[in-house]
Amino acid sequence: MYPIRDSYGRPVTSMRIQVNTTCNFKCFFCHMEGTGVHSETLSPEEIERVVEVAARHGVNKIKFTGGEPTLRRDILDIIKRTRKHISGNISMTTNGIRLPALAQKLREAGLDRVNISMHSIDREGFQFITGVDAIDKVVNGIRAAKSAGFNPIKLNFVVLKDVNIDQIPRMIELSSNEGVILQLIEFETVRENENSEEYLKYHVSLDSIETYLKGNAEKIEYNSLHLRPRYTIDINGKKAVVELVKPMHNYEFCKHCTRIRLTSTGALKPCLMRDDNYTDIISGIRSNSDNDLLDNIFRKAVMKREPYWKEEDELKNSDKVLWINQG
Ligand code: SAM
Repeated sequence: MYPIRDSYGRPVTSMRIQVNTTCNFKCFFCHMEGTGVHSETLSPEEIERVVEVAARHGVNKIKFTGGEPTLRRDILDIIKRTRKHISGNISMTTNGIRLPALAQKLREAGLDRVNISMHSIDREGFQFITGVDAIDKVVNGIRAAKSAGFNPIKLNFVVLKDVNIDQIPRMIELSSNEGVILQLIEFETVRENENSEEYLKYHVSLDSIETYLKGNAEKIEYNSLHLRPRYTIDINGKKAVVELVKPMHNYEFCKHCTRIRLTSTGALKPCLMRDDNYTDIISGIRSNSDNDLLDNIFRKAVMKREPYWKEEDELKNSDKVLWINQG
């Protein structure tokens, strides 16, 4: 069967590669791609080798992440090497501040798309979230990405209660004016952390935003990854395109997950939310293992994939709520 499927029948067609964990921002809500901070990284040659293995199994989309991927001096080499094996989309999520210097070179190296994180439209709010006074640099980064020909460009906006939720209308307007897609992302965390003080303080459901977007959409499309909805709406005669990423307790999201991850230390990671099912692939690469052995390692990692939010768990929980409500 091609592409490779996990034991739940889900095809694995995309890989999210964490090239470092170093970052020049300190976003207080950051999930760190579920790995924590590590000083070790993989070389461009090692990343290429993993991409080659993944591509043999049907992976044809790559997303680079970090840390902050543009802080790697060899990021162009990493992209060029990836391009040799991937015919589909290669994209990167970045805070955008190095794009004025790098965008054109990234494009020439073979990068197709960028997601630029912009969690606030206000200088103060931006600094509160990221710890850095850099909103102008991010806006310059968006412009540089446009000039370099990246298309589409997406702005990542993690929605936070009492911090930036009121800025959504202005963010929609900005994205429409700039001709970029706004991606509204639910603040997510692992099950064990859901009742923590910090999470309860900042988490807000995106349901009411979804209702508004649905009610005003001229067009609704769905991304094959996670079945993420994309709404095209009219804002004062101009089009705005808004995507919603609503992972929490969303079994449809997990049911349509096509992604496997590579950590900065060289482990295959089946799920952002799990840290108990890594598969080491870098040792095999560093000991010059042959393709058969690396293929087995990759297949083993894919078979560890499991939906994090499952329909049966959610139904069980909704029974509990009903029972509690009925006294
Ligand atoms: N430094 C890069 C950047 O700023 O985009 C890449 C790393 S960052 C971890 C990748 C993406 O994860 C960002 O768009 C960020 O908004 C998102 N993210 C981080 N923590 C999150 C959380 N707790 N919930 C939802 N999204 C989160």
